[in-house]
Amino acid sequence: MTQVPFNDLTLQYETLRPEMDAAMQAVIDSCAFINGPEVKAFEADFEAFCEVEHCIGVSNGTHALEMALRALDVGPGDEVIVPAMTFIATMEPVAMLGATAVIVDVDPETKNMDTEKLAAAVTARTKVIMPVHLHGAMADMTRIMAIASDAGVRVVEDAAQAHGARHNGVRAGGIGDLAAFSFYPGKNLGAYGDAGAVVTRDAGLAEQVRRLRDHGRLPGEKFDHLTIGSNYRMDTLQAAVLNVKLKRLEDWNKRRREIAAAYSAGLGNVVGTPHSRDTDENVFHLYVIEVEDRDAVRSRLNEAGIATGIHYPEPLNLHTAIRETTPYGPGDFPCAEHLAASMLSLPIFPEMTDAQVTHCIDAVRNAVVG
Ligand SMILES: *Cc1c(COP(=O)(O)O)cnc(C)c1O
Repeated sequence: MTQVPFNDLTLQYETLRPEMDAAMQAVIDSCAFINGPEVKAFEADFEAFCEVEHCIGVSNGTHALEMALRALDVGPGDEVIVPAMTFIATMEPVAMLGATAVIVDVDPETKNMDTEKLAAAVTARTKVIMPVHLHGAMADMTRIMAIASDAGVRVVEDAAQAHGARHNGVRAGGIGDLAAFSFYPGKNLGAYGDAGAVVTRDAGLAEQVRRLRDHGRLPGEKFDHLTIGSNYRMDTLQAAVLNVKLKRLEDWNKRRREIAAAYSAGLGNVVGTPHSRDTDENVFHLYVIEVEDRDAVRSRLNEAGIATGIHYPEPLNLHTAIRETTPYGPGDFPCAEHLAASMLSLPIFPEMTDAQVTHCIDAVRNAVVG
């Protein structure tokens, strides 16, 4: 029987092994482990990839979000608006900085921040709107930027799942004031450990993030600490890994889109499939279907040798940590709660074969219609 893993990073490493081993060995040979030249090289190439002026390599995506908010002076008394359906890391930095996370429901079709609810949630205390490009599909950035501009508030894109996605031709990360990327190993661009980046078109914000990630100083200012920062630097070994992989990212995203197109053609008439705006380019970090009897479908797929995932089984308002520290609770975000109960992530990774894709389509059709 055809087995289909949810992702296969081992297989991907096999396709990269000689170049990857040489790149990592070069860092070890040089012993330039902190702020090595590979970090600068990665920043230059990722800037070009995102079509923005500034990229700052950092320790992970969660810290990238935190530094983006700190660069905008977010703190106690400020409100930051986030969508209900996302990984908890979207709102953790808001709480860590002592600000208030204002959660809004998502749109049932796009699964991204509902812009009508967003407009209604803006108050005099709103400082930042933080949309997430969930599963690799862009949030409605045109509408979000218009709402932000009317209200005089800033926008931080959580682009952790959207490396290379486009909205009206503009890459994820190039629309908001700042954006955060994660290079967690399973992301479209993944390190061999933790890593992340902040990107921005604003030189002043970029300089602030550079200071925050390295003890409040810029390169060359060894003992001149102008602000209280921390150590949120990108590991040089991870930068070397990312340099090898970034060259393949366009091709990998193209393959993800091919697989997604095959899934949508084969499954569109039996299950809910991802919505795509004609003007956007989705990079399908995940391919998520919607089914009412999810657990049954999932176990039938498991019997057919197909691994699946759930992203995410709970909206933000149902996590214990959030229920206990905010006014939010069950029933607040019906759309996100319904999605959490019905979404199922199918395998999608660039190395997946056409035979595996066909097997998944057949198995889902059988599981749903019998
Ligand atoms: C992965 C992810 C993050 C966090 O990134 P880490 O690198 O794991 O810290 C934040 N937001 C979203 C939407 C993510 O998917």
